[in-house]
Amino acid sequence: MRTQIVAGNWKMNCDLDESQHLLNALKQKDFSKSNAEVIVAPPYTNLYAAHKTLENSSIKISSQNINENDKGAYTGEISPSMLKSVGVEYAIIGHSERRAIYEESDNLLAKKVTAALKHDLKVMFCIGEVLEKRKADKHFEVVEEQLKNGLFHIEASQMKGVVIAYEPVWAIGTGETASPEQAQEIHEHIRKILAKQYSQEITDQTSILYGGSVKPNNAKEIFAKKDVDGGLIGGASLDADSFAEIVMSF
Ligand code: PEP
Repeated sequence: MRTQIVAGNWKMNCDLDESQHLLNALKQKDFSKSNAEVIVAPPYTNLYAAHKTLENSSIKISSQNINENDKGAYTGEISPSMLKSVGVEYAIIGHSERRAIYEESDNLLAKKVTAALKHDLKVMFCIGEVLEKRKADKHFEVVEEQLKNGLFHIEASQMKGVVIAYEPVWAIGTGETASPEQAQEIHEHIRKILAKQYSQEITDQTSILYGGSVKPNNAKEIFAKKDVDGGLIGGASLDADSFAEIVMSF
């Protein structure tokens, strides 16, 4: 019933040549054997070329960020309609690196969500707690706050354009992964929050991805959990074989 998704967040990696090389390698993979929708999120500079390269492929393209405005005097920024015009279908919003390094607030993220949906870009909305909050057993509250403040201003009907990515900050790029049980526990919690805010139908339809050091050797176990609908993959998405193996875990 829910779409299973494996998305690769390339972060600030890959110049144009490297990007094309990686995309061509991914194109050679036979993803038809997997049930997952496959998405890649290259840096802005590679998006148009990625769109051209992937034209006859089922692989979809995401941006790693967006600006919340339509156009204007926002030097250095990229708008949702610009992204649409180069074949982008998804936008990652609220990645922990954007929250921490660029100090993106829940309030700003809420505006980005609105802007993306207004332009028909699907949203991959990232939430997740830092280590201190996990240690203090506050992770359930953290994700609830992040959802409330960044996402729950949208209407139930707009939720079909939203995928949630739970990414514990302590597991991103650290080699440390949440156990499948920890992932399941919090995904189930997120689903309950969605049901309370919207409805059982919405929660049953919303894909919730896990992110945080997912690799070929742990993907299957994590994805097997009933409330985990796939993964947002950082480091391992930069290697075509590893990423493909993760996709094939479904
Ligand atoms: C990410 O950046 O979203 C991520 C999950 O990174 P990694 O897989 O490298 O932990």
